[in-house]
Amino acid sequence: MIGITTTVPVEVIFAAGRRPLDLNNVFVAHPEAGRLVARAEAGGFPSSTCAWTRGLYGAARALGIREIVGVASGDCSHSLALCEILASEGVTVHRFGFPPSRKAGDLERELRRFAAGLGTSLEAAEAVKPELDEIRSLAGRLYQLAGEGRVASGDLFAGLLNTSDFFGDPGKCRRELAAALERAEAAAPPARPPLRLACAGVPSILSDLWEVFEGLGARFVDFETPRQFARLDSLGLGLVETYLGYTYPYDVFARIKDVRDEAERRRAAGLVHYVQSFCHRAIHDRLWREGIPLPVLTLEADRPGRVDERTRTRVEAFIEQLSP
Ligand code: SF4
Repeated sequence: MIGITTTVPVEVIFAAGRRPLDLNNVFVAHPEAGRLVARAEAGGFPSSTCAWTRGLYGAARALGIREIVGVASGDCSHSLALCEILASEGVTVHRFGFPPSRKAGDLERELRRFAAGLGTSLEAAEAVKPELDEIRSLAGRLYQLAGEGRVASGDLFAGLLNTSDFFGDPGKCRRELAAALERAEAAAPPARPPLRLACAGVPSILSDLWEVFEGLGARFVDFETPRQFARLDSLGLGLVETYLGYTYPYDVFARIKDVRDEAERRRAAGLVHYVQSFCHRAIHDRLWREGIPLPVLTLEADRPGRVDERTRTRVEAFIEQLSP
């Protein structure tokens, strides 16, 4: 098992005969996620570090993870320090970086170096991709149904997000997606068409945020980061093209364009920009507001848990503003 802290070319990990485990998903689904954060604080992480970073550390230690992939560029400004702390505690860190140049040659060299470090090759990783692409195509079908308003927001979010590591078990991921598709196909259309929203930003740390929106008659038809993690636009492509097309590790302008295009295609009436307390990406909020021609609601949260009253009130006001 190799822990990952963001989406990386998991094909390489599978080709090496190993299983990726996305520590973000472990952390946020943990029944005592707050204790994982507290564990990091007890280990010396300042409380002004983003709770995702603290949770990643807590999850890695709680699971006894011995190896992780440290993403040196294209992930989080805290990533390097997190990896150094884990390395100081005996965890082996395999380095990978999305090249800031975003050039195919640089990415290919990095993929080859990463693969060699894990004892495999880029060619072996390419051979793994068709199986993962079959599963991605199920996520793509779910995304298509979501465009028709037929998928509950939580199911869409989880269905896309779980392809970041395929649970380390592609068979399990395939079954979960098939079940979500079955639910979506069997569901009666909502009595009133829901208000269609898009969401950008890092994944939310709140456990019931999507339910709150659904309860107020709104439904997400796009989630930027989970959709990008799922690499839906890369089916049948090689690994270099697949991960060059991945917008999240690169500049925010490409991300904004991607969300703007997708929100227009999917007829979203508004955008929720989720930001995490103490995250450097929150600085981009102004650019999102300027770059998306829709009403934007910026929501911020700190620790894992349920939606608080203040956030609920802001969500209610936003939905009221957009409702016909
Ligand atoms: S929310 Fe921001 S600061 Fe926290 S782990 Fe993600 S990218 Fe890093």
